[in-house]
Amino acid sequence: MSEPAGEPLDFIREIVAEDLKSGRRSSVVTRFPPEPNGYLHIGHAKSICLNFGVALEFGGHCNLRFDDTNPTKEEQEYIDAIQADVRWLGFDWGRHLYHASDYFPQLYEWAIHLIKAGKAYVDDLSADEIREHRGTLTEPGRNSPWRERPVAENLDLFERMRNGEFPDGARVLRAKIDMASGNINMRDPVMYRILHASHPRTADAWCLYPTYDYAHGQSDALEGITHSLCTLEFEDHRPLYDWFIANLPVPSRPCQHEFARLNLTYTVLSKRFLLRLVNEKRVRGWDDPRMPTLSGIRRRGFPAEALRRFAEVIGVARRESVVDYAALEHCVRDVLNRTAERRMAVLRPLKVVLENYPQDEAEEFEAVNNPEDPAAGVRRVPFSRELYVERDDFMEDPPKKFYRLSPGREVRLRSAYFITCREAMKDASGEVVELRCTYDPATRGGAAPDGRSPKATLHWVSAAHSVPAEVRLYDYLFTRSDPGAEGELLDDLNPKSEEVLTGCRLEPLLGDLPVGARVQFERLGYFCVDPDSVPGRAVFNRTVTLRDTWARVQAKATPSTA
Ligand code: ATP
Ligand code: MG
Repeated sequence: MSEPAGEPLDFIREIVAEDLKSGRRSSVVTRFPPEPNGYLHIGHAKSICLNFGVALEFGGHCNLRFDDTNPTKEEQEYIDAIQADVRWLGFDWGRHLYHASDYFPQLYEWAIHLIKAGKAYVDDLSADEIREHRGTLTEPGRNSPWRERPVAENLDLFERMRNGEFPDGARVLRAKIDMASGNINMRDPVMYRILHASHPRTADAWCLYPTYDYAHGQSDALEGITHSLCTLEFEDHRPLYDWFIANLPVPSRPCQHEFARLNLTYTVLSKRFLLRLVNEKRVRGWDDPRMPTLSGIRRRGFPAEALRRFAEVIGVARRESVVDYAALEHCVRDVLNRTAERRMAVLRPLKVVLENYPQDEAEEFEAVNNPEDPAAGVRRVPFSRELYVERDDFMEDPPKKFYRLSPGREVRLRSAYFITCREAMKDASGEVVELRCTYDPATRGGAAPDGRSPKATLHWVSAAHSVPAEVRLYDYLFTRSDPGAEGELLDDLNPKSEEVLTGCRLEPLLGDLPVGARVQFERLGYFCVDPDSVPGRAVFNRTVTLRDTWARVQAKATPSTA
């Protein structure tokens, strides 16, 4: 969505614009720094749109940097998936693909620089002891007994750590800052830990890995990042970020700015939890259409354009908030309404036999592909004596206001004829299995010469021409809008988040759409072809229903004057 001219910039763009205007910066370089320990989710999409968006708008560029400093949790599968997801979202890092692991040698040298300057030391305390010494928000920390180690001893020990002489956890390298600092992050933070683990890129070259706090800012500086944009939980880390930059001979001076992360109702955005859902097989995988991952969202049928628009609509703020999931769906409908062609599909078929329609005849009707887009043209839909309609569109004893099929009732079949229900045929158990109806040949195309107009228009398919399909309907993954707020996250999983319908019947053109194709099933919602499809048996995912609760909420909030 292009913003109208004069639209105020968000606070990040304001900072960037001001830095350029004042001459503090002459160019803009940002980065998106995922840790390859899981798949990207929609929260990351916000960060991607911001980082790549800002770079594009201000004529700079955005780096894709893998923050690969923890080999025990990182995998090539994730690295590949992350690249595919960023590309799918519509962004291109060009030649600017980097890895924190590329900087391991430089980071190691700079650690030695700090040791020599008396600003880092090797600590023999265990992780537990370090935690004990750290103090609390109200109490200062206590110095480690190893804090005053001579430089030469630190240099020797650090080198031996690097050479693999010590087991995991035996020693760490810490920055020597201030154990009494009001900011716990400044209480001699750990810079390096021993980890005898093979790395996806550096293999066994290192048994010593830098922490996020040490690696991140220095990686930014090495890449000439001007604006290092991250989420609010890093605000308290900024003094440390700045301390390293100030105390090392880095080639550039990046600045960190924090913005509020995306939170969404009915959604958990935590890679750790999503990994758990995958490992415990609560979902079909990382790309399950119910997952908030970009691969899941893509498989569900959300267009990338809708996600970019969503990122614009929610904006970038300094304060945490929770966005209504309906706002995301609104963006999805908005794009699909313009771009998805209409088709007819019957999800729970009920047979209709037109008693006065000739036995072995068929005809075709022209149907508009997309009323929102005349260029989408028309298609031909076959019609014959035996049809399927939606089981829900018939009631034997209809309540008031139910205008669809019931004995004696006339309805319009979309783009075809008016039909009148004459009789409901039942099986031995009393279940309705077929409707005997008649059609009015004078209503061909969906209008009557005498001007009568049924209150209901139904979708339908010709039984003989239709193709079979499986259709998967989705609901929220969680039963509550704030999952986990009152206990275990897993207890809030929605047991009915997926409903699989088999035996659905689709108009013939839907039989050979490619995987990923998106259509609107008339009256039912937007759907997308799932990769589980095989020739002769398509599988569709329901992307989103047609009902736009968000638009209604908005309309209520701003009453129209009409
Ligand atoms: P998670 O909390 O899901 O495990 P993470 O922050 O550990 O995510 P990273 O790979 O470190 O994942 O994230 C890469 C970038 O995406 C970081 O700059 C991070 O701030 C940003 N990011 C992560 N989650 C969100 C979110 N919900 N909203 C906005 N940005 C996010
Ligand atoms: Mg992180």
